[in-house]
Amino acid sequence: MKRLLAIDDSLEIGALILAIAKPLGYAGRHAPTFTKFKSMLADDPAVIVVDMMMPDTDGIEVLRYLAEQQCRAGIVLLSHVDQRVLSVAADMARASQLRLIGHLRKPFARSDLEALLKREVSADVPDFLRKPDAPSITEDALRRAVAEDQFIAHYQPQVDIKTGAAVGVEALARWQHPVHGLLYPDSFIGPSESWNLVNEVTWRVVDKVFADARMFAAHGWAPALSINLSAFALSDLTLPDTLLAHAEGEGLLPSRITVEITESGLITQVAEVLDILVRLRIFGFNLSIDDFGTGFSMVQQLKRIPATEVKLDKAFVRAMDRDRDALVIVRKTIEIGHEMGLAVVAEGVETQAHLRVLGELQCDRAQGHLFAPPLPAAEVVAWRKKYDG
Ligand code: C2E
Ligand code: CA
Ligand code: CA
Repeated sequence: MKRLLAIDDSLEIGALILAIAKPLGYAGRHAPTFTKFKSMLADDPAVIVVDMMMPDTDGIEVLRYLAEQQCRAGIVLLSHVDQRVLSVAADMARASQLRLIGHLRKPFARSDLEALLKREVSADVPDFLRKPDAPSITEDALRRAVAEDQFIAHYQPQVDIKTGAAVGVEALARWQHPVHGLLYPDSFIGPSESWNLVNEVTWRVVDKVFADARMFAAHGWAPALSINLSAFALSDLTLPDTLLAHAEGEGLLPSRITVEITESGLITQVAEVLDILVRLRIFGFNLSIDDFGTGFSMVQQLKRIPATEVKLDKAFVRAMDRDRDALVIVRKTIEIGHEMGLAVVAEGVETQAHLRVLGELQCDRAQGHLFAPPLPAAEVVAWRKKYDG
């Protein structure tokens, strides 16, 4: 059973929320104070309802706490205050990587909360897509994995929205662990950054990608190749030269390769990394700003970064059909991106409705489960044969 936790100083509202949630299959608990709330968080609730205005705390403090705890629950904001304040709080929640699923203005209609909770129930990831819980990883194990070449790449197709053609793939790192099986980047990129091993991991993955590109070519397919670089990689001044050497070693033109770097990684160190970014562009590589929209003040920075592409974060794409703010961000990003001569790629495209809206907004490319999840190299080739006919 899923758990819901509501923090609200009013007992009536707490009881009302639990009464609405129960028939939808939620075991609910109500915390009238922040202290109680903190102790109940250990239940690992799937949904958290946060009253923005309470005597002993305010909602921002609660959100900050949830962000610190790296809370993965769906969050509903609740408030008397006007829509503007709620929107700012919502932006803040998203910027701190919290998963906001809606905001309601008090007094809210029963049906509004019901609708949010129902969507959250149906938004459940099917089991076959759910990532297994990450095992804890040791520095030794990571070093061994690098030495023993246990990293591979999975590939997620990118589709040109106008023509429908499969024009590219994004390579996503996977660790083929001898005991735990396939591990996802969430479980090893962070640790490899803190142990200063991320560059080694990255080069293993990049080499796999360039080798797989040969296999794609043997099947008559030359997709554009997107690779993900950690912001840490940008502290290495030799990065552009090394990447060029690896690409040329496999006979690949830099113009086929796009380097994706997250917006947050860029913002914190624009000045320092500019040199590297410019040289990547001079060598002919493309540069994509990943997870666009999740950082702050990027629009100003955008002018300074020699990017060729922005990637709209999946959180906005997925929220687009129910959250006006998300739709505005998607629309504005596409407009601004195009004004600056950048291609705009939407990730996390899961439904035909998403694709239709993105097409109307003139978004260039789409990537997401609607087309395919990330697939092993051989499977992405098979996928493409079926898809392109
Ligand atoms: P990202 O670059 O934003 O990659 C997109 C993530 O969204 C992938 O998760 C992908 O599986 C997932 N995704 C794709 N389509 C959909 C969809 O329609 N719905 C949903 N719900 N999810 C979708 P993944 O593979 O677990 O990668 C997580 C992150 O790890 C990546 O986020 C990227 O930042 C990082 N990463 C991946 N490979 C590398 C790498 O080689 N080096 C570095 N430094 N980071 C990497
Ligand atoms: Ca990416
Ligand atoms: Ca992304």
